[in-house]
Amino acid sequence: MNSTARSTWSGWDPYPLFVQGGSGSRLTDVDGNTYIDYLLGLGPMILGHRPPEVTRAVVSMIEDRGTVFALPTEDESRLVAKLIAAVPSLEQVRLCNTGTEAVLYATRLARAFTGRSKIIRFEGMYHGFSDGLYWSKHPDLDEAGPDRAPVAVAQGPGLPRGVGDNLIILPWNDAGLLAEVLEREGHDIAALITEPVMCNTGCILPEPGYLEAVRELTARHGVVFILDEVITGFRLGLGGAQGLFGLKPDLSVFAKGMGGGFPIAAMGGRRDIMALVADGTVSMAGTYAANGIAVAAANATLDILARQGTFESLFERSDRLREGLERLLSDARIPSSVVGLGPVFQVWFSEHPIRNYRDAARHASHTVFRRWWEGMMERGILFHPGAFENLFVSCAHSDDDIDQTLAIAREVVAELKG
Ligand code: PLP
Repeated sequence: MNSTARSTWSGWDPYPLFVQGGSGSRLTDVDGNTYIDYLLGLGPMILGHRPPEVTRAVVSMIEDRGTVFALPTEDESRLVAKLIAAVPSLEQVRLCNTGTEAVLYATRLARAFTGRSKIIRFEGMYHGFSDGLYWSKHPDLDEAGPDRAPVAVAQGPGLPRGVGDNLIILPWNDAGLLAEVLEREGHDIAALITEPVMCNTGCILPEPGYLEAVRELTARHGVVFILDEVITGFRLGLGGAQGLFGLKPDLSVFAKGMGGGFPIAAMGGRRDIMALVADGTVSMAGTYAANGIAVAAANATLDILARQGTFESLFERSDRLREGLERLLSDARIPSSVVGLGPVFQVWFSEHPIRNYRDAARHASHTVFRRWWEGMMERGILFHPGAFENLFVSCAHSDDDIDQTLAIAREVVAELKG
């Protein structure tokens, strides 16, 4: 397997599906079974599989112009101009290839800008697999320290121990605790990084006022506020979650949704911070950064997403699915909630509300989730087998797809109840 998220120990037990191909909202495996796809490549396929306009843009780039030049093109300037127009907090932007890279650059830049070294990150989030941030989502809470002061636990062997010393791990959705920590250690903290909606421990919404408090507190202590919009960007709206919530982070990172299935990412934000990149003080390199294929794909993807009504209809269908599932489960009196926003959500099988990672680790039933996943999958509805992953809806999902999914969910819920 070429990613841990596709492996047996991530839930694809006894083995993952092997894929033949995909089209729109559908994916077909090598045995010829077709599924309505809510895995969507873990997020990038916001337009569904093989969106024709993106494919045409990429093919034309390859056939007519080329792929990698190690020199700038007008296309990448056009793309950056679209990003800046779409997301109000972006004053300057750099392109790269993956979310992991974009996060790595953002944290490096924040350290260079502030001259401080520590980073606050939240338990249960994922910001890519770099040594600097691949810490703290430990399934064994005995090893993960006290609830209000989690310790940095490497997410597997091979990470240098000293790196974790530069991280402060906090529970999410607790503004009071954040205020205490910033009061005590703010002078040492370069940045705080958070997803706007926690999408890497299932789906957990920010409590009212929480993100605003994060904004206010980080500004007060001179800590760079990095918003990781790798999942939410170009999915919760053209302006990302920050557009939806009216939030203005100092730096933001985008990836998945912006490329329509091609590897591209962006990091950007305040001009005075980005100036360190622009003047070469902080290095951001990469042979394939802003390569022709990725830029062509992203330009086409953003043009489609910017069309009138795109997000309205995406939200309308997604909400109908989420609310329909919620209704089926509550009518059957199965302790659960369906949590998310628009086209990203997850079903929690839990009697307790889930507001952070430890709630999820303690209360979410993986056993019931597994039965739910198996029931849906056997009937042709595909999503990730992990309870801590998400379902994604694309612009290619039709009303008919949603109706079929709800009809199948009705059967599976009846099975769960029985
Ligand atoms: N940040 C978040 C919130 C993510 O969900 C992910 C990937 O799932 C990343 C960063 C890393 O992105 P990539 O897989 O493109 O490196």
